[in-house]
Amino acid sequence: MRVFAKGWSNGFDGPGRRFVYYLKGCNFRCLWCGSPEGISFEPEILFYPERSELAASCCDKKAVKGNDLMRAICGNCDTMPCINVWHNRAFELAGKEITKLEIIQDVTQRVTMFGGDGGVTFSGGEPTLQMAELLDVAQSLKSHGINLVIENNASSPRFRELYDTFDLLICDLKCITSELHEKIAGTGNDMVLENISDAVANDINMVIRVPLIKELNFTVSERECFYDFFSKIRPGKIEFLRLHQLGLPKYKALGQICPAKNLHPPVQAEVEDFCKRLCSIGINATLLH
Ligand code: SF4
Ligand code: SF4
Repeated sequence: MRVFAKGWSNGFDGPGRRFVYYLKGCNFRCLWCGSPEGISFEPEILFYPERSELAASCCDKKAVKGNDLMRAICGNCDTMPCINVWHNRAFELAGKEITKLEIIQDVTQRVTMFGGDGGVTFSGGEPTLQMAELLDVAQSLKSHGINLVIENNASSPRFRELYDTFDLLICDLKCITSELHEKIAGTGNDMVLENISDAVANDINMVIRVPLIKELNFTVSERECFYDFFSKIRPGKIEFLRLHQLGLPKYKALGQICPAKNLHPPVQAEVEDFCKRLCSIGINATLLH
């Protein structure tokens, strides 16, 4: 399984204290993505020259030129001494293979730290792109009695295969209108809406998480589309997030241009009003802070 990060999380990625694996590769291209290093399936170097004056001296192939990294040179560097030998803080590698055995060992030695309701969360990127490995690992963890959560974008044609293995599905929903979804996430959302509707119809333990960006999906018209969709399918729980562009420094560190700038979170009071409107028809909708 290919991951780009792993680490502890408390209360955001499912209940309790959780150990989270971030799987590399995503089929969406959200304009506001906070983890651009998780989008490509290929390993990538994040370069932060401001973190170390010694960055250039850790590379004998002269790939560091001032504040720039010549990534074509890095592409032919198998040993990566800047990271593997010097552990220089200017370099981070996003993307490495981790075996099922390593994950089982990782998790079993942390079990006592999960507390009563914690466990393991698989996030991304889009974890379902590695469905076979994901289910294999998850089923092993389940046999050890580990509570399992998956954060995903609900786009997998194999979405139903998650139902029996995971204790909670956290599903991102970017917007309702398919043309808008293509514009802001790079692909349509027919499968997403179908999957989310199916999970509700089958009474699956699911939280729908909606990242809100004022200019993109919290316009008056899209708000009405959300309302119509939710009032039709009646989900158990919706969480809204007022999104900021957390990914900007990472795009820079990846040597990429952020696809969208100057996006803004919606006005808090307007989101709270929208939550009240949904609550008034019996739908549990909250704003996460
Ligand atoms: S990956 Fe290799 S070529 Fe690139 S900076 Fe590190 S040592 Fe130099
Ligand atoms: S689905 Fe998530 S990981 Fe993928 S591009 Fe969108 S925000 Fe980024």
